Amino acid sequence: MKCELCPRRCAVDRDKETGRCGVTTDVKIARAALHMWEEPPISGERGSGTVFFSGCPLGCVYCQNADISGGRAGKTVTVDRLTEIMLELEEKGAHNINLVTPTHYVHAIIPAVKAAREKGLSLPIVYNTSGYEREGIIEALAGTVDVYLTDFRYISPDIAERYSGARDYPDVALDAIRAMVRTAGQPVFDEDGMMQKGVIVRQLVLPGYTEEAMAITDLLYREFGDSVYFSIMSQFTPTEHLDREKYPELCRTVTEEEYDRVAEHAADIGITQGFLQEGEAADDSFIPPFDLEGV
Ligand code: SF4
Repeated sequence: MKCELCPRRCAVDRDKETGRCGVTTDVKIARAALHMWEEPPISGERGSGTVFFSGCPLGCVYCQNADISGGRAGKTVTVDRLTEIMLELEEKGAHNINLVTPTHYVHAIIPAVKAAREKGLSLPIVYNTSGYEREGIIEALAGTVDVYLTDFRYISPDIAERYSGARDYPDVALDAIRAMVRTAGQPVFDEDGMMQKGVIVRQLVLPGYTEEAMAITDLLYREFGDSVYFSIMSQFTPTEHLDREKYPELCRTVTEEEYDRVAEHAADIGITQGFLQEGEAADDSFIPPFDLEGV
């Protein structure tokens, strides 16, 4: 498969080699289990049926899941097994199927979801992404994906380049989110408050970057208003994989003052549909063990 699934457009033959995402065509999964740490309308009381895929096209220097994004952790599975995993998660009581870092496996996800639905899967499919997506691929996912849980990480090309080697991130991610809103539509919840359709945009506040974070909030609210939900996250943690000499500014968590400033700004500009992270979010406990559970 000559791969152009993501904006990197490596055009390598992933049947034979790996591109920037670090994995071949074969689907590799590090964990498939109920997960309680997403936003309330995604995790609910029983948990989100979360499938953690290995590899990542964006590759941020501060990645919070570096063991899997680097393609190290995980086990190769067939499309049939991916279908079974989705059905097993529904049996375990999951509120939805939550595909984490799915971009580079869209070729397998579309047939796996189709087969799972034919076998009775009734849960919404959540596409949990960095936001670095091709608009045309998001359009191709119409009818497969119900809910987008997407990051919007940078508004400044220089910062996007420094931390993710993706100067085009701001424009590309904005176009992708426009396509998500077009195809998933306005937010819809069931009687228990669980999201069935719609878009949640996440902002991971980076230490020292409150101005960037507030500019992102301004842009997104101006662009999408109440068509999306906002999730402002405080959980940034400098992990052991961070190059501390090269990125000394990222060697700390976000202070309460920094986070409150961003959250208050969101409220000041009129955002009412959103989620804040309270308490000790910057804790390794948010990072699950990638131990092949459920794979
Ligand atoms: S999915 Fe991987 S191989 Fe394909 S274009 Fe993106 S980074 Fe390159």
